[in-house]
Amino acid sequence: MAATCPFNHIDHVGVAVKDIDAALRLFQEVFGAPPSEVEVLEDQGVRATLVEVGQTRLELLEPLSNESAVGRFIERRGEGLHHLALNVNDIAGKLKALDERGIRLVDREPREGLSGAIGFLHPASVFGVLTELVENDRG
Ligand code: ZN
Repeated sequence: MAATCPFNHIDHVGVAVKDIDAALRLFQEVFGAPPSEVEVLEDQGVRATLVEVGQTRLELLEPLSNESAVGRFIERRGEGLHHLALNVNDIAGKLKALDERGIRLVDREPREGLSGAIGFLHPASVFGVLTELVENDRG
């Protein structure tokens, strides 16, 4: 049987932090990460950046307020690993196929994110891991 949502590679790993500038400094000064630009994503309620690390990337997310999704995540669970992003082709088709298979989705349709077209699956359907699908030119 063919898999419902085969993926190309891990596009990035998302980390929730309280202070993105301090986190970026740590990754640059301690781990030698290259400079990266911080962007404000009002619709997601975060300041975010993608740090290139070899074949994958690290996404740092700082909530704009305690009421945003990432703000609530940090209040409940503290800073740390937030989500895993899988690089896929045909994200709209993948979300539809996952929905038909009964996987709980946060996004039924792809939307624009920092890393390309994105859509989140609910962690309840993926053993507690908030999982993001990403389609971009790195696929
Ligand atoms: Zn992400």
